[in-house]
Amino acid sequence: MVQKLSRRLFLKAGITAACSVAATSSVAKAAKAMDKGEPIATMLDISKCIGCEECVYACKEVNAKKQPEPKKPFPKMYPNRVPVEDWSEKREVTEQLTPYTWLYIQSATVKIFGKNQQLTIPRRCMHCINPPCVKLCPWGAAKQLDNEISRIDDDICLGGSKCKEVCPWSIPQRQTGVGLYLNLMPAFAGNGVMYKCDRCYDRIADGKIPACIEVCPEDVQTIGPRNKILEQAHKLAKETNGYIYGENENGGTNTIYVSPIPFDQLNKAIEKGEGKPHLNKVKDMMSLGNNLALAMLIAPIAGAAAAFGKFYKMTKEEK
Ligand code: SF4
Ligand code: SF4
Ligand code: SF4
Repeated sequence: MVQKLSRRLFLKAGITAACSVAATSSVAKAAKAMDKGEPIATMLDISKCIGCEECVYACKEVNAKKQPEPKKPFPKMYPNRVPVEDWSEKREVTEQLTPYTWLYIQSATVKIFGKNQQLTIPRRCMHCINPPCVKLCPWGAAKQLDNEISRIDDDICLGGSKCKEVCPWSIPQRQTGVGLYLNLMPAFAGNGVMYKCDRCYDRIADGKIPACIEVCPEDVQTIGPRNKILEQAHKLAKETNGYIYGENENGGTNTIYVSPIPFDQLNKAIEKGEGKPHLNKVKDMMSLGNNLALAMLIAPIAGAAAAFGKFYKMTKEEK
């Protein structure tokens, strides 16, 4: 499997020789944005995506080391209010988001110029500007970097699923039998770790672009500072009579989709449900008074819990 996937990345180098100037410029822009701690955004041109899933497998390959290796049998929970979620025997599933699939391809059959056509849409975390998953995580495990990438620290997460509850798209996915809860109170707290796209934050820190962008044969995604990406998205939408999603959803995200048809039509045509996010309009979750107040209340607890988590891990490593 690894060999096959590695070949994908290798092949990509040849296929996209012609596109290397554009890609290099994206890398330069991303690295520059990183230096300044500027928000990094991506634009996804839905009309270009051919649904080949190269991006899905590249994501799995480069992030394999970050994915869960659960210990079995799982400890029994008392009370049994946090259900076991085990994807470890279904790692190959690519029809929805899972702890092992941080990006998947959604499809929609829609009418364009009177003809039925299939559009394919890469879906993953939207990397919100003001992410409720980060602001409302009671343990400080979900974090937002200076460049507005959000990620979940698997050393600190207890798998309580608050991030998924408050995410407008229910993006994070839990795997049981892994993480800090096993060492603390395996029968009484948590029940795993939550996983989602971390926008290849470590690759970006090294001046590389995310694997899903690098491997795409159609250059569906463009990465760069958010203001430049928004300019490009509006230009493309104007040229193609297209529509934009992600600019204002949940108060604004760093994932900007451009589609040839309106998003309410796309939303009707896609399959939605567990691990299959919608494309509805989304209000700014954190502007709702309750959530803001809750975030302020949680901040000191989350800070203390995060510090405890790090301390606990250090003491475990020293032994
Ligand atoms: S985004 Fe690119 S790599 Fe991913 S499915 Fe679409 S065309 Fe293929
Ligand atoms: S889409 Fe959901 S998981 Fe991603 S940053 Fe926003 S709230 Fe967090
Ligand atoms: S940015 Fe990285 S982690 Fe996120 S979907 Fe793409 S390859 Fe996966």
